[in-house]
Amino acid sequence: MNKFDVVVVGGGIAALELSDRDARIALVTGGNYVKRIKNIEILSSGLVEYDLEECLVQEAPFAKANDRNNKTGQKSNEAELKVFGERAIAINKENKIVRLASGNDLFYRKLVLCTGAVPRKVPSLTSPELVLSLRDTESALLLERKLQNSKKIAIFGDGGIALELVHNLKHVEIVWCSREKSFGQKFLDPVAMEFLLESAEQKNDEKKPKVETKNCSYHEYTVPNVIGAEVCQSAALGPSWYKHKGLKLAGTSNESERKITYHSGVELRDVVKTESNAAQVILANGNKFVVDFVVLAIGVQAQTELVDGILELSPADRGILVDSNMRSISDPCIYAAGDCCTTHNWPSDEIPNWFQMRLWTQAIQMGKYAARCLVSHLDEQEALLDFCFTTFTHCTSFFGFRTALLGLYNAQTLPQRQVEIIFRENGFENKTTPKRK
Ligand SMILES: Cc1cc2nc3c(=O)[nH]c(=O)nc-3n(C[C@H](O)[C@H](O)[C@H](O)COP(=O)(O)OP(=O)(O)OC[C@H]3O[C@@H](n4cnc5c(N)ncnc54)[C@H](O)[C@@H]3O)c2cc1C
Repeated sequence: MNKFDVVVVGGGIAALELSDRDARIALVTGGNYVKRIKNIEILSSGLVEYDLEECLVQEAPFAKANDRNNKTGQKSNEAELKVFGERAIAINKENKIVRLASGNDLFYRKLVLCTGAVPRKVPSLTSPELVLSLRDTESALLLERKLQNSKKIAIFGDGGIALELVHNLKHVEIVWCSREKSFGQKFLDPVAMEFLLESAEQKNDEKKPKVETKNCSYHEYTVPNVIGAEVCQSAALGPSWYKHKGLKLAGTSNESERKITYHSGVELRDVVKTESNAAQVILANGNKFVVDFVVLAIGVQAQTELVDGILELSPADRGILVDSNMRSISDPCIYAAGDCCTTHNWPSDEIPNWFQMRLWTQAIQMGKYAARCLVSHLDEQEALLDFCFTTFTHCTSFFGFRTALLGLYNAQTLPQRQVEIIFRENGFENKTTPKRK
């Protein structure tokens, strides 16, 4: 009989961090490929940088660890990891059963969901086939193919994915559209963003975005709840994805110099196919322009259809609401980690400088921590909140510059008073005094 201590659903990094444990574990990966981390560089305690790559399930670190344990005889007799390269299609929480696409039933004592997230969409577009969202390898390959016939594209959004695209796409004219007044404000203050754009050697000065220096508050997109089921069949691409896939992200424009046009404070209303099969973009303010295709990078929402109506979800992003021991607030036998969960009522005095953001770093931290909580709970003990949640830490790179984000880096939660930001680089100094809301 398929009885397990723990069933883990997901083939992303949160799931893999959970699966290397001494127990009877079933890992339901949703496919034959999973992610693994390599080239870990520890920059400081709590701040780590690494590369990642996709690999076959049997080449994943936990599979190798099992072999090693067998050889040294250190593995407990009770331990077993069984991998199911298929999707989970239903959960029966009363009888503690996960049903797989093959019809197999897996019985669990504890269930952990690591099903990731899907890109947010704009509903009711006339020609959705001209719009692409980046999430997994398949969508990255589609982007590469579409670029091979394109001279001009539009990118909507100004989070990490949009910043990476704007920096890395070559030989294609970009119309960059953001709902916010200033570009890049999710991660960067206006002065830092200005520095990056200047570094990118934009020669045409009037084409630069107006950098808003009065206010550097933090915003999330809130596009209506529509999920694009055509993407997210496998794990999210993650950091520096364009390097590892050997992708050729180049259009067909002959212009040697990159041309970017900026539209701030705008929203997408519709995309309509023209007679020449191009995409006419219609903005909410009524303005129109024509491109070859559109990339939407306006954030993600949790992929949680599996537990719709079974567990309580966040109204804002459909994340499974989890307590500070990573348990669903609706069922103590079901846990969630990574992009598919939303933290609920975590003790504010223990996380003074931390907040949740759907990032690779946090998927790893939550996966490891959920495993620790689960083991404690099997021993009927509560786990202490991990130290990594006291301070937000994330290392990434923007426009080729390594960027470390620490704590409430955007001055979030500061009281209403003047904040001075001083920025220095090679003798150049710039000051702004943004006013918090
Ligand atoms: C283009 C792109 C660039 C990014 N860049 C960065 C970056 O630079 N830095 C950073 O920190 N983060 C980045 N991220 C975000 C980061 O990749 C995610 O936060 C992280 O991968 C989340 O991990 P996860 O394990 O929670 O989910 P995922 O990696 O999305 O994995 C979810 C897994 O669950 C599986 N699954 C879903 N439903 C089922 C089911 N019913 N049955 C079985 N399996 C199922 C999926 O197939 C998938 O394998 C980026 C994301 C994207 C899309």
